[in-house]
Amino acid sequence: MKTENAYWILVRDFEICLVNNEIPFGTAEQFNLNQHSILKIGEYQQSPVYLAQANSQESLGDFVNLRSQLFREEKLRLLMHKAVTLNHFFATHKFCGKCANPFELATNELALHCSNCGNRIYPTISPSIIVAVRRGRKILLANHLRHKGTIYTTLAGFVEVGEPIEKTVEREVFEESGIKIKNIRYFGSQPWAFPNSLMLGFLADYESGEISLQEEEIFDAKWFDCDEPLPELPPEGTIALRLIKETLRICRES
Ligand SMILES: [Zn+2]
Repeated sequence: MKTENAYWILVRDFEICLVNNEIPFGTAEQFNLNQHSILKIGEYQQSPVYLAQANSQESLGDFVNLRSQLFREEKLRLLMHKAVTLNHFFATHKFCGKCANPFELATNELALHCSNCGNRIYPTISPSIIVAVRRGRKILLANHLRHKGTIYTTLAGFVEVGEPIEKTVEREVFEESGIKIKNIRYFGSQPWAFPNSLMLGFLADYESGEISLQEEEIFDAKWFDCDEPLPELPPEGTIALRLIKETLRICRES
């Protein structure tokens, strides 16, 4: 591995290391990565891609937040998200939850294995839903407290244990906005490594109700007409923006 040319995704929390604004490409020796915990996570442009866990004194390049890398082409963006999620998983699962023995990386699959009691666990993925709601030629967009006064976006939330995903979509929209929806359709998905979410995107139509905000999460929510100026929207590379664009397209055809 030391002499093989590869892409190296060095991760520190939610940051990855860039050299000259790109993922470092070269040999482990060249980047002095031999002492790192290294795992192959995929291929990119016919070369292997490795996750390397960065130490805090890393001086190879510049660490940037993963959120600043949404503009990358899809395949590379997905590998970056995979690396950050796996790094978070390893960092938070160092010991077996049954017997407290240190976990080891399994050799035959991507899992952690306890050689003392045989316990085996797989990388954690937390499913969540994200949904764009249409009412005639209008789209429901919310300004969440974490984006107070800036971005308006779709509604979203985590799937609860024992809950069918379609119910999550109905529940989250009702809890956050007071609106009942119908005609829920699956649209697509996006892994979101903050830290281990898998966002399942849906389109839906308004059924009944008036906007009533969940004040702990939502600062404002409104119906925006597709022919009138829109507020600031989420950035390119997010499933939220894809859902909004698709809904606006349907609005303009209706
Ligand atoms: Zn164990």
